[in-house]
Amino acid sequence: MNEKAKRALDILIEGNKNFVNGKSEAQNRDVKALVANRHGQSPIACIVTCSDSRVVPEFIFDKGIGDLFVVRGAGAVIGPNILESVEYAVDHLKVPLVVVMSHDDCGVMKAAKSSYPEEPSVFKLLIKSVYEIIDNKTKCYNELARDYTLVKKRKLLKRSEILRKAYANGKLEIVRAYFKFDTGEIVILDE
Ligand SMILES: [Zn+2]
Repeated sequence: MNEKAKRALDILIEGNKNFVNGKSEAQNRDVKALVANRHGQSPIACIVTCSDSRVVPEFIFDKGIGDLFVVRGAGAVIGPNILESVEYAVDHLKVPLVVVMSHDDCGVMKAAKSSYPEEPSVFKLLIKSVYEIIDNKTKCYNELARDYTLVKKRKLLKRSEILRKAYANGKLEIVRAYFKFDTGEIVILDE
């Protein structure tokens, strides 16, 4: 992992420890911080995660204004808008680290698990995207959410030349992570 990405990941992990321990240190959450950043941004990482109201990246990584470029959608399913948003973070803002993060009790994973293998009547794009990794042996939707981060990482690289090049050149690292609701802990997942 390149130095910038490693440093960014260390900062995120430290921030999450603050969150877990109830000891937030983030100072930059006010208008003063906004004014200081009003002419531009240089976030340390791009967080790709779910729209779930319980998953708030700035809180759980103990960060504030200007720190994180957050790309959210239900289930964080990788569609064109999500993909281009990540490309913007990497290509334009030069973010060295993308964190693909799923979480406990995800509604999209639950819906996919309960409707598989039927053709979904609603939320088709979301649910069918998750179907790619479900089979009849899939037991738990939380397990599914963890596994699905690998699909997201692969899709980011497969569908985007910008991300593929940055990754191949060592300018970008993509890390998979999982957010646990019982402790507030972020678990970094291995390949
Ligand atoms: Zn979710």
